Amino acid sequence: MNKFINIDSSVLLTEEDIAFTEKVIKCGETEGPKFDSISILMDEIPIFLVSNITMKKLEDTEKKERDSEKPITNIVDYLGLYTRNFKILDTDIRAIAICPERIIRCCDADKRPVLTAKVIIHELAHLKMDMHPDADYGYMDDFFRWMEEPLANLITLQYFDNFVKNTCFKYKSFSNFSEKDNNGVFEFVKSFIEGQPENYKLANELFRYESLKNSWDEWRKNKKSLSIGYIKEKTAYLNYVKENKTIDESFIIDKLKGLGFNL
Ligand SMILES: [Zn+2]
Repeated sequence: MNKFINIDSSVLLTEEDIAFTEKVIKCGETEGPKFDSISILMDEIPIFLVSNITMKKLEDTEKKERDSEKPITNIVDYLGLYTRNFKILDTDIRAIAICPERIIRCCDADKRPVLTAKVIIHELAHLKMDMHPDADYGYMDDFFRWMEEPLANLITLQYFDNFVKNTCFKYKSFSNFSEKDNNGVFEFVKSFIEGQPENYKLANELFRYESLKNSWDEWRKNKKSLSIGYIKEKTAYLNYVKENKTIDESFIIDKLKGLGFNL
């Protein structure tokens, strides 16, 4: 409970928001527990609750660090954010910030715990993809955004999918989410992603293929080498994912292998 630290949010998380998030993480975890399991990371990183205004400031700082040559399109207001550089006094720490004020504006009241869990797991997925000695891309360009965001959502979908499969008979404790509605939880997350910008939305396509299940692990291992090379291959990947709403398994594997992914 005290792992969420309120900075200046007028909306706090409810007990149900927190219990549901923990439940999805616990029941959605098929691996581990390993040092980089979401359940372990959740215990290790501070999660700050921030107001709409503070989130705007954090967003602006982050967007400034992005590729300034290209116009920034498709950037929506963040519901959450993971950063290596959260300033506490004069020190930079890794932290997650979430904005409950924005979260409650984005869904019906009964889906609030689901969206809260979705946002928190997505941000923890960024941290997970940062947990490797070579997980250092540096400057966040277009390629980074088309790799990092869909894969954070892919990890999120995997947790919700496992959660639904593992709990169809066990999870009955909250009135709003009966056994019958568990499937609705997964569908809600999928349709929320469907409404996100194109790079985030790519996750729903990637999720269709079992062969791409661990692609996030290949991405984090290859971030450093991809940040300095693979110009032609990065362009080929970007062209393919931007031009095709439906992703073909063999085509995407071919593009990812070109980027050094061992799939
Ligand atoms: Zn993200």
